[in-house]
Amino acid sequence: YVAKEQGGTYHYFTRMLMEQNIERSNLLNALYVAIERDELDVEYQPKVDYRQNKIVGVEALLRWNHPEWGNIAPDRFIPIAEETGMILKLGDWILKQAATQQKLWQDNGFTITMAVNFSMRQIQHPRLVETVQSILEETGMDPSNLEIELTEHTLIQSKHVAKLYDLKNLGLSLSLDDFGTGYCSLRYIKDFPIDTIKIDRSFVENMTHEPHIMALNSTIIYLAKQLNYDVIAEGVETKEQIDHLMDGGCHLMQGYFFSKPVSSNELFVLLKNGLTK
Ligand code: C2E
Ligand code: MG
Ligand code: MG
Ligand code: MG
Repeated sequence: YVAKEQGGTYHYFTRMLMEQNIERSNLLNALYVAIERDELDVEYQPKVDYRQNKIVGVEALLRWNHPEWGNIAPDRFIPIAEETGMILKLGDWILKQAATQQKLWQDNGFTITMAVNFSMRQIQHPRLVETVQSILEETGMDPSNLEIELTEHTLIQSKHVAKLYDLKNLGLSLSLDDFGTGYCSLRYIKDFPIDTIKIDRSFVENMTHEPHIMALNSTIIYLAKQLNYDVIAEGVETKEQIDHLMDGGCHLMQGYFFSKPVSSNELFVLLKNGLTK
């Protein structure tokens, strides 16, 4: 009986591992050709200044629609792309798309910031600054409208603070994504040229039920302001959350309450018509 059970367990784990491997290499192979096969897309999620109920920027988010497997979430394929270095190609691709799009909206009379997520590999790449600069030149996007989003983890691992300053010298700004989920203290972050702190969704999600999370949020907002950072809250879904954030002094927000990530055409409509409410 014991032997049988052990055998079963063994087979179970082998099968799990194999499935994971096949899955992984399949995903990777498919990802290699996804750009050429036109399977990738970009969605844009508004960033809102609640004081004016106005869209002040957007975040570009990568989308992969595979012909057989359907939509594959970034949380599934970005880590694989990151490990294998594929992210460099994807990163250049989305930056070019996003910059072209921003320039188009700009030319249509809508000046909004464009945020693009950068992964560790991109930040560590020796030609990071040149790459970003050449895409900005090629697309004609004004660098002051570009925002690069980094996580605390990427920030810690990027080591070369000087390179981040070089990047910023292009005229763009840097924002710290998912703030509060990593191990950075604001004291430590102060050494990096960060402009904006994005309070992680998990804090926003729980703040209306848990008084200590609410206190934590207010403290992050307060400290960030003292240190001269802008603060934006991500994952805002309810009016209750908005009220708490406004009370705490945070008026920049992003989340399903305002809009999900949408296509460039849908975003253009939102820009023209304004947010409803
Ligand atoms: P992120 O940069 O923190 O992006 C926010 C994620 O939260 C997005 O998921 C967005 O769709 C989702 N979100 C926004 N508002 C709400 C809300 O109110 N409620 C809930 N439940 N979710 C909300 P998405 O698009 O699946 O992206 C997940 C992560 O994948 C991103 O997290 C980012 O880390 C990564 N990612 C996406 N696109 C790129 C990219 O082009 N390059 C890199 N390096 N990473 C990317
Ligand atoms: Mg982000
Ligand atoms: Mg985030
Ligand atoms: Mg996140």
